[in-house]
Amino acid sequence: MTDATRPARTRFAPSPTGFVHIGSLRTVIFNWLWARHTGGQFLLRIEDTDRNRYVPGAEEQLLQSLRMMDLLWDEGPDIGGPHAPYRQSERLPIYHRHAEELLQHGYLYKCWCPPERLKQVNEERMARKEPPGYDRRCRFLSAAERAAEEASGKPYVLRLAVPLEGETVVNDLIRGPIVFQNALQNDAVMIKSDGFPTYHFAVVVDDHLMQITHVLRADEWIATSPLHVLLYQFFGWEQPVWVHVPNVLGPDGKKLSKRHGDTSVTEYLEKGYLPEALFNVLALVGWGPDDNTEILSREELIQRFDIKRIQPSGGIFNLEKLNRFNGIYIRKLTPQQLAERILPYLQQAGLVATPASEAERARVEELVPLIQERLVVLSEAPDQLAPFFVAPESYDRDLLIPKKLDAATTRHALQAAHEALAQLEAWSVPAIEATLRALAEQLGLKVGDFFMALRVAATGRKVSPPLFETLHALGRAETLQRLERAAEALTAATAA
Ligand code: GLU
Repeated sequence: MTDATRPARTRFAPSPTGFVHIGSLRTVIFNWLWARHTGGQFLLRIEDTDRNRYVPGAEEQLLQSLRMMDLLWDEGPDIGGPHAPYRQSERLPIYHRHAEELLQHGYLYKCWCPPERLKQVNEERMARKEPPGYDRRCRFLSAAERAAEEASGKPYVLRLAVPLEGETVVNDLIRGPIVFQNALQNDAVMIKSDGFPTYHFAVVVDDHLMQITHVLRADEWIATSPLHVLLYQFFGWEQPVWVHVPNVLGPDGKKLSKRHGDTSVTEYLEKGYLPEALFNVLALVGWGPDDNTEILSREELIQRFDIKRIQPSGGIFNLEKLNRFNGIYIRKLTPQQLAERILPYLQQAGLVATPASEAERARVEELVPLIQERLVVLSEAPDQLAPFFVAPESYDRDLLIPKKLDAATTRHALQAAHEALAQLEAWSVPAIEATLRALAEQLGLKVGDFFMALRVAATGRKVSPPLFETLHALGRAETLQRLERAAEALTAATAA
């Protein structure tokens, strides 16, 4: 069934309890890639049966995160599909019908035990150092006792009648057979007293009805996977291929947490990580192609992804690697594409109007090559480009005067640069560079010192895009004005 020629049906089945985090995004990517690799379908199903954990608005946020990552689904709650509805809370009659079937066959049984009793049973078990669980009281009631419970009208749940002996084997594609002793399994609740199914019941019914061929999900579900296998057996259904994917770990080898940057996907995207970089990095967490190539486009990943090569042990998510990949992907963009992507950041910073005028767009496109080489995340763009939109308000004398020079020499150097640049015939990068280099020599200044003073005069900062390109982009008039103002600042400083 791992045969890549057979179109797979995979799914992402989030509970609407919050944002999509980096860890779950990686699992989505694996599911999506496998569906695309095999020419199959990727489904989105909302698992909202736990009403206590339901967070309003979370579903829309989940969908939005996937859309931003361009991880689109072929069937789902918003677009429907042949197995609609795709929201579990809307599928209750389906679960009830299936539960009824198993109840008839004795694979499920009614349990009327009230919460106080369950609590007490658990406490007793814990006192005996046994794992918590149900003591199966209602499974073995006498006919008369059962009739009395039925007649009482008390609320009840439906529990799974786990075989008391033998073993259940979960055949995991990447871990091999995982054997569970039935005697150690709990008769877990399948239908709660409010009529909602638990995850275990709903996931099996839905994966079967939606014809899911491969279940790629977090390895935290291994522990309860025998319940799912038992359900498939009780229903007489063919099991999907089980692929419990490894945890996403931080660089310290511990499960990814907030501390490592396990925040929401939207937060990463808002910071200016490109979806394609995030996609590439996460596809390599717990999986990798046989030749260890790292930079892989979405198309290449679709082509090369192979679930058999998913590692059973955790994969590391490393922010430094993401930064490196992001830079690489930023440099792959054309200036026009990059301009398009940084525009919202410039607008947010108030450097460009919303909507941007044609002239503003053209200007941003012109400036992009100045920062494209150094940009790590898009959100750095407003800071790096600010000097091209606003002149320095004032000058910091300590920044302006190079270490071994004094105010008078620096002022003189700036004035000389002003004069030379004013006379320049063509305002081109090579001409600016040649003039300023010659001038440094003429003035007997180290180029490093001289250029630093010019850089601070032009941008107000010690770090900026390359100097000659910067002056060129500022334009002659603006450059001359800034040099003059900087020189004046030093006049005042000298006088003081
Ligand atoms: N609703 C489950 C979760 O959010 C889905 C697990 C699964 O993929 O089966 O963890």
